[in-house]
Amino acid sequence: MNLFELQSNEFQGRHIGTLGSEAAMLEVIGEKSVDALVDKTVPEAIRLQAPLNVPDALSEAALLQHLHELSQKNEVFKSYIGQGYYDTHTPSVILRNIFENPGWYTQYTPYQAEISQGRLESLLNYQTMVTDLTGLPIANASLLDEATSAAEAMNLLFHNVNKSDVAQAPKFFVDAQVFPQVVDVVVTRATPLNIEVVIGDYKTATIDNTFFGALLQYPNAAGSIEDYRSFIDKVHAAGAGVAMGTDLLALTLLTSPGELGADIAFGSAQRFGVPMGFGGPHAAFFAAKDEFKRSMPGRIIGISIDAQGKRALRMALQTREQHIKREKATSNICTAQALLANMAAMYAVYHGPDGLKKIAKRVSLLTHVLAAALTELGFTVAHAHYFDTLTISTDKAAAIKEIAEAYKMNFRYVGASQISISLDETTTQHDVLDIAQVFALAVQHEAASIVFDDEASLSNIPTFAVRTSAFLEHAVFNTHRSESQMMRYIKSLESKDLSLNTSMISLGSCTMKLNAASEMMPLSSPNWSKLHPFAPVAQVQGYHEMMASLNQYLCSVTGFDECWLQPNSGAQGEYAGLLAIRNYHLKNNQPQRNVMLIPISAHGTNPASAVMAGMKVVVVKALDNGYIDVEDFKAKVAQYSNELAGTMITYPSTYGIFEETVKDICALVHEHGGQVYMDGANMNAQVGLTSPAAIGADVCHLNLHKTFAIPHGGGGPGMGPICFRSHLKDSFMSMPMQEIAHSEGNMRGVSAAPFGSASILLISYAYIRMLGAVGLRKATEYAILNANYMRARLQEHYPILYTGINGTCAHEFIVDLRPFKNTAGVEAEDVAKRLMDYGFHAPTMSFPVPGTIMIEPTESEDKAELDRFCDALISIRAEIAAIENGQLDKANNPLKHAPHTLEVAMNDGWDRPYSRQVAVFPLPYVMQNKFWPTVSRINNTHGDRNLVCTCEPTAAYAEATA
Ligand SMILES: *Cc1c(COP(=O)(O)O)cnc(C)c1O
Repeated sequence: MNLFELQSNEFQGRHIGTLGSEAAMLEVIGEKSVDALVDKTVPEAIRLQAPLNVPDALSEAALLQHLHELSQKNEVFKSYIGQGYYDTHTPSVILRNIFENPGWYTQYTPYQAEISQGRLESLLNYQTMVTDLTGLPIANASLLDEATSAAEAMNLLFHNVNKSDVAQAPKFFVDAQVFPQVVDVVVTRATPLNIEVVIGDYKTATIDNTFFGALLQYPNAAGSIEDYRSFIDKVHAAGAGVAMGTDLLALTLLTSPGELGADIAFGSAQRFGVPMGFGGPHAAFFAAKDEFKRSMPGRIIGISIDAQGKRALRMALQTREQHIKREKATSNICTAQALLANMAAMYAVYHGPDGLKKIAKRVSLLTHVLAAALTELGFTVAHAHYFDTLTISTDKAAAIKEIAEAYKMNFRYVGASQISISLDETTTQHDVLDIAQVFALAVQHEAASIVFDDEASLSNIPTFAVRTSAFLEHAVFNTHRSESQMMRYIKSLESKDLSLNTSMISLGSCTMKLNAASEMMPLSSPNWSKLHPFAPVAQVQGYHEMMASLNQYLCSVTGFDECWLQPNSGAQGEYAGLLAIRNYHLKNNQPQRNVMLIPISAHGTNPASAVMAGMKVVVVKALDNGYIDVEDFKAKVAQYSNELAGTMITYPSTYGIFEETVKDICALVHEHGGQVYMDGANMNAQVGLTSPAAIGADVCHLNLHKTFAIPHGGGGPGMGPICFRSHLKDSFMSMPMQEIAHSEGNMRGVSAAPFGSASILLISYAYIRMLGAVGLRKATEYAILNANYMRARLQEHYPILYTGINGTCAHEFIVDLRPFKNTAGVEAEDVAKRLMDYGFHAPTMSFPVPGTIMIEPTESEDKAELDRFCDALISIRAEIAAIENGQLDKANNPLKHAPHTLEVAMNDGWDRPYSRQVAVFPLPYVMQNKFWPTVSRINNTHGDRNLVCTCEPTAAYAEATA
């Protein structure tokens, strides 16, 4: 019997690294048992009494089998729905070497640029690809999806176009032929900012001085390529800006938005080799005119130099935008879609400009052939000019739908009498014959005569829109044509980057735990990856079953009644939760309730989200011990009692402690009519032990890419579902996206797809199923054990900031490095860079306290790895001591020169007052598995002063990298 039982718990031991090492660790901590440690750490008053309502654990094999069976309940039809989502061939070399490769998907956001040069290079390729194709000079390294990018475009114009002379609410024009899910999210985002969205036909619209911007789609939602040039002039004449949603594949053949005069171009890069995944994840792109470079949302990669004067990349400008600007930030975007941006960039690298053009031509020619066939059958194609999408008005729509579904094809049906058909890279001649056949059957016509002539001219593209400008002429897009070359290029970038397959990444607040292979594998199955987000519900029953269960598990974990799976990042979750609070007060006729109390220690996305939700941020102080200053809190609650919308708190706090006062704070807010939003980024210290409901919160988001095992992907993807108490449910229904696809009604959403980046929900689902209730709780306990073990080892060497009343920390703790600035001239950055020489990624730097590092080991690390990390920090402390006592020079020492590259270490001119051995092999373990940073310390200001954020022209690149 025992043999069988063991198997179902096997994943616990694979996920939790220190199972079996407790005794030695507890001795160091000075505690009797893990239970005793947890009792001291998590206050009694908020402990859960019952186990989580989650099924018993499945073994890895059983989980894979279960998900395979579930996937069979999805039906993969040929998707011609379009609307921003297209089938694509992911090149296998990219699928295997990036999408399925932990060397790429486990990376952290590239804040430590010296050990991130590979993905930074790839993201620079992405930006180059976007700027070239859109014809605009500045692009960021991805946003969440097309719809939120449109909202960011509106937002950017809103904040940058001066309309202070206009008395009424500023207006934003949206053409009626913008994708419906884009319009939906734009309206959501406009409402709390008091922006009036005017939807109309650009051909007849009057754009006067009261408008700050306009939104167009090119080609538009019906597929038509419209000539927007005179409209753009009209908008500019009114002192407003134009944002254009567009399609990268189409742009290989079409005049770019920049050349047409647009100020901003955005869209989805999904069809560049990223599967649809029932809505995501995929990268959205965003490009703008130069004048907007300092207010672009998201992250921009720029070229700088390192300490040796060599070319080196880093995140430019607003690296920590929200943390610096806080409530003055105009965008809350943090996690984006880095992994998927890398895939899309690699797709362009592999195909090159000629390959991309060839794909685009084939798609467009097939569309042209289909149009001729449908015309011959007596149907009217609505537009003469199109790229890949045809719209047909017909009274036979119902019959066509029935036949098409029998043939396993999905078209897009608009109203009762319009059908749109979008072809894509995967469409074959055979498919075109099949589509024509469906239409022929519907009118009982004999088959149309179809001629495939690949010499035919693309007369469906109007003269003004024929692209004449070149693109992607850089070396990188014209070199890697064979699979061997491509595989090696991907590998060469991967090996510049430190990922979880090298060593632990102890990022406080970011929870870089194991992303198990079994959790990831189902994502590659076509039955999960090839589904369109607006496919009929009957075809996606596997997804719905999985999501219904996940909903229920997340409700159990949070103690709340409802869960909404749409937001595709933590910050989007914050925004959605705050909108619910806003709607709740509006429903209760309390429109004046718009003040959000936010502790000074909050993550920067909190104030940014609150402002986006139309709220006024009032900052609450912290005490010296890191606790919320309850006196200040009380005073502010009383002061704003009548205007109080609520509070946003992080629990355990961003300082990594369970504050005992949290229940009182929540009660106080409720007494004064407010709602409590809990930032769930620190749920890894709560799952199974306590919950947002137990502390008294009303709504929270969960970072599934932190607590629930979705990998970080180098800065995305993520999912940030929100869970909430039932009294807020109606407030969600007024953002009526619950359960239903956009195409089915008048909904309001925060993301483009009804379930956000739905495919990666599978990862969290698998994680929960393989751990079960017992394993989930154990994971939390061991996260606390691991953190306390490191705290105990390090506290003899470093000051540790803030612990709970019993001297323990939760799942993370803060090491104070500020004292060393005076004693040794050493700053937190020096320690962070020196850790690279020891083979480690730095912990979170200077958040929530400047000059400190915040360590979160997670439950997934084993004791030996925790020890290596502690040994490294202790050894660094000895190096600091050597500076303090004068053995080492304050300016010329291993910390100041860190990190050390192979090139520097091997240079014949080595003249440093410490040995090469100390420089690159400072501890014996390092020799076993040396990780080499590929550039020296990067100059942060050089890159910002000389902003270059696209690949250099080929000759300059060759020179720079020679
Ligand atoms: C990560 C994090 C967020 C934001 O999540 P994203 O997914 O990056 O948008 C918010 N709050 C805290 C405390 C976090 O750690």
